[in-house]
Parts: sequence; structure tokens; C-alpha cells
Amino acid sequence: MKIIVFIESSNDKIHSVSLEALVAAQKLKHDSDTEVHIITFDKKLVNQLSEYKANSVICVENSNLHQYNPLCYLEALKQIHSKLNPDIVIFGHTYETRDWVPRLSAKLDIPFISDCTSYNDSGELLSFNRPIYQAKLTQKLSLTSNKALISFQAGSYSTDDLEFENSNIENLDIDLSSVPNTIKPGEKFQESSGGVDLTAADYIVSVGRGIGKEENIPLAQNFADKIKAQIGSSRPVVDAGWLDHSRQIGSSGQTVSPKLYFALGISGAIQHLVGMKGSKQIIAINKDPNAPIFEIADYAVIGDLLEILPKLTDNL
Ligand code: FAD
Repeated sequence: MKIIVFIESSNDKIHSVSLEALVAAQKLKHDSDTEVHIITFDKKLVNQLSEYKANSVICVENSNLHQYNPLCYLEALKQIHSKLNPDIVIFGHTYETRDWVPRLSAKLDIPFISDCTSYNDSGELLSFNRPIYQAKLTQKLSLTSNKALISFQAGSYSTDDLEFENSNIENLDIDLSSVPNTIKPGEKFQESSGGVDLTAADYIVSVGRGIGKEENIPLAQNFADKIKAQIGSSRPVVDAGWLDHSRQIGSSGQTVSPKLYFALGISGAIQHLVGMKGSKQIIAINKDPNAPIFEIADYAVIGDLLEILPKLTDNL
């Protein structure tokens, strides 16, 4: 089987979800002939990428690919696909992937199984698992064709599991002269200033809707200050305006992997879990003994966080 992994990047930085997708590809040794090739549009990333275990890093250099442009990306991948003839192309499930890969699927007439969280490989059959209905159910899709485009959700694989080994570097020429000039990239969206990079935090105290009201946030903040942790949150807390969006952890927030993650009044919806399940230790406080967060927590504290937190803070 031949797999290619598309590495998304911007400003010469690799999107971490693409590296997670590379982990999935490295693990997917479907048969003894399985090859993994890495594709990048940024030649400045080639050396870094060549350190990861793969058969080759293929650099596709073209000035029209320096900034995201769905039409150019589409044409580029179409030509790469016809030259390399891979069985599977793997992407990180990013906003850009959502935008252009469905078009690629239509153009190539190859199925796109998007937003996967894992796969099963029986040796005969390869299938991919994806959450549906807000992660209430998991859909398992088996490949019946020998060609597919696959994207993996953030947090499905951990970059801690990347395998290293020097790989060959190759260049591939493509011709984008036929691409119509109908889409011109605008100014890149900037995150609001003052945002916090939770990906670098060793300790995170994350606040969920269970905190009850904005006035209770200082309870979590005092506790976080005591253990020198960053404050994180689930989405409803951000939607309510109690904390800034830069604090949000999950599929539409940041993906974190601290040494210690406190989940305070967080139920454990998949969209939250994908952003924090790579944490080394998880301590969850929740008054519902059946809260899904307890399925991944190392320590489960069943109780009212409004009672527990002040006592915990005082006792530290
Ligand atoms: P709830 O699900 O309401 O859970 C609150 C929990 O607090 C409950 O388990 C309850 O038992 C507990 N509780 C209540 N009171 C107390 C108390 N006094 N003491 C202890 N425990 C208490 N969510 C994210 O977090 N991040 C994302 O990036 C994200 N992206 C999304 C993207 C999409 C496209 C969609 C559809 C949803 C997304 N969500 C995201 C929302 C997600 O589906 C959940 O709705 C959300 O994670 C739930 O947040 P929560 O656990 O804080 O709230």
C-alpha cells in the first residue's frame, strides 16, 4: 500500500494536526510493502520533515502554493496523485482540509472519509472510525475501493509517538498555469492579541459549564494560581463570555498535552476530549458519576466542585 501524507503549513510552521496524521500513517503498516511519503509545499520545512520516518519527503515548490489557495492546492494534489498513484492520502482535519479536500474528492472521484479518530486493520479490510451525531455514535466505514482520502481529527494521534529516521528528499514539479485566477488570498486572519498558548503549559485547570456562573471563575483561578497552572475551558464557558476563546480546548480550540489536566465540571464530550486526551495525567471533578470524562480520567472525584475547590485550594 502506498500512503501519502499532506503536511499543511503556514509561515514556515507545520500544522501540528498534520504531524498527528503522519503518526497515523506511520502506524498504518497495512502490508509489508506499505510506503509512506510526505508531501510539503514549503521547501523550508523539508529538512525537519526528513527526520521523520518515511520513504520520502516530496517537496512541491511553486509560488502559487505559498499561501493557501483551494484551486491551486486542488490542481497540485491532482497532479501529485496522478504522478505518485497512492492508495491513500492522509490529511489532518483542519479548517483548510474541510475547505478543499471535498473538492479534491469530487475531482478525483475518490471517496473522502473525513474527521476520523482511529482505524482498524484486519489485514484484509481497512476501516476508519468517525464520531457522528455530536459523538453520540461512532461510524465505522470500511474501504471497498482501493483508493481513498482520509482526514484525522486533532488529538486522535499524539506527536509523542512520531517515529524518527532520516528519509530521502525529492522534488516534484507541477504546472499550475491552467488554474484560473479567480481566488486571491486576502489578509491572513490573526488571533486576537493577548491570547494564550496553552500548548506549552505543563499544568492546566480547565473549567466547564459545571462551574455554574461567571462569578465562580475566580474559584478555579485561585486554584490554578496555587499550582501555577494555566486556565483552560470547555466551549460553553467561552460561548457564555466567561473566558476568552484563547482558553478553549477542543476541536474548535487548542489541542493540549500537559503533564496534569484538571477537568472541573466538564462532561467529556468528544469535541473536548480530542483537545486534551493526550494529557499525561487527568483529574476530573464532576458530580455525575456517569460523566464520560471519567472514562479517560486517571483520578475521578465525584462531587460538587464548588465545595471541593475552595477546600483543595486552602489545603495546598
Ligand atoms: P456540559 O456538557 O454541560 O457538562 C457540564 C458538566 O458539569 C456535567 O457533566 C455536570 O455533571 C457537571 N457539573 C455540573 N455542576 C457541577 C458541580 N457543581 N460540580 C461538579 N460537576 C458539575 N466543546 C469544547 O469543550 N471544545 C471545543 O473545541 C468544542 N468544539 C465543538 C465543535 C463543534 C462543531 C460542536 C458541535 C461542538 C463543540 N464543542 C466543543 C461542544 C461540545 O460538544 C460540548 O457541548 C461541550 O464540550 C460541553 O461542555 P461542558 O462539558 O463544559 O458542559
